[in-house]
Amino acid sequence: MSRKLNLISVIGTTGVGKSKLSVSLALALGGEIINGDSMQMYKGLDTMTNKHPLVERYGIEHHLLGHISDLNSQYTVKQFESEGEAAINKIVSEKGKLPILVGGTHYYIQSLLFKNMTVEAEKELNKEEAEFIESAETKAIFAKLSELDPVVAQKFHPKDRRKLVTALKICFTTGRKASEIYKEQRQPLTTQANENNDLLCRFRNLVFWVWCEPEVLDPRLDSRVDAMLERGNLLNEVRQMSDLYNSLDPKPSMESGVWQVIGFKEFLPYISTAAEQDKMAGLDEMKRTTRKYADTQVRWIRKKLLPLANDARKDMTIVILDATDLLKWKENVEDRAIQICHNFLAGKDIPIEAKSPKHLSHLLQLDDKHQSSTKTKWEPERWKHYECDICSIDGEKFVCIGEDNWNAHLRQRRHRQRVKRIKEHEAFERWKAEKAAATAATNE
Ligand SMILES: [Zn+2]
Repeated sequence: MSRKLNLISVIGTTGVGKSKLSVSLALALGGEIINGDSMQMYKGLDTMTNKHPLVERYGIEHHLLGHISDLNSQYTVKQFESEGEAAINKIVSEKGKLPILVGGTHYYIQSLLFKNMTVEAEKELNKEEAEFIESAETKAIFAKLSELDPVVAQKFHPKDRRKLVTALKICFTTGRKASEIYKEQRQPLTTQANENNDLLCRFRNLVFWVWCEPEVLDPRLDSRVDAMLERGNLLNEVRQMSDLYNSLDPKPSMESGVWQVIGFKEFLPYISTAAEQDKMAGLDEMKRTTRKYADTQVRWIRKKLLPLANDARKDMTIVILDATDLLKWKENVEDRAIQICHNFLAGKDIPIEAKSPKHLSHLLQLDDKHQSSTKTKWEPERWKHYECDICSIDGEKFVCIGEDNWNAHLRQRRHRQRVKRIKEHEAFERWKAEKAAATAATNE
């Protein structure tokens, strides 16, 4: 059995200094960097996508950074998986250097760290399928998915278009049930977690999670956005994108490819109106989206990566670095990371107390619901849909997925108040009817 290659990864939310740390590690340990941020793979848009400035890269080679020159091309996670693996192999075998993955986009990172995480499409969507997905109402999407794969349809909320579409696309492009594919992908994890974890991880992984307290990070993110607008090239980049967008027919979905980048949608109204209030609204919206994105990134680490790492056991070590106090960056982040890397590369295990500063050790604890990567993912018996006859949203019955959520809904104040109101109403109607009957009897 050949030994797995060592891979260092630097993850964490946007704006915590991942790029800076990865360059320091590369300088100290003789490494090269692989970009794992999907938006930074596009050429240009350097301000909007927060590309690490060239002068701050100190000559360290970066792979998969700005390598897609056609902004409207659809780069897939599958492409990233194979290009990323190729880059890592090249860095190690041809150059004898240490690969350092930095990012970014969680499903990209995940596809490279673990095997079997992405679904291979066997064919493209045909015209009819593509049109259906683009234009059908969510209700129709749900109905179609329920027809092709009733099991997986139950897993999602009937209004969760994004997830329904993903599953439907899998059914269309593989000609199989998405639920079967999901299940196959989970199964090896379960058995490997129990026996040997050889197949789960592609590499021997050391993952640095750069952490910053949200109350410190949020203002930092806000001022980064302000700076992009004041000094940076942000609006020029939005203009460049909007020119391209307007020239395209049909229009690409804003949920796909580069069009998802934070900043474009937000400033698009301003580009056409040039009204100061649209500029301010764009700024606020971009700050809000950026903070939300940071939350999503932390949630992915806590709920997805930690359970997977738990299953992967010794093939994956996650270490938290506290980047809250930038004045202590060198001792808390940089020097600590380099020291731990040396031990890791020497083949030593990282002791628990070195995995996080004491005050942050709770972040590495798995919560009850997410103990294992497998437990949360394949429980079709828990996906039963419950419709509430009393509560509705937009004129449709409120839907809960799974018994736990349903029971929680029954306990909710809003639901209980509605029940109470209906009961009172019924009692009143009964009283009215009885009274009418009594009056009628007296009148006879
Ligand atoms: Zn209800």
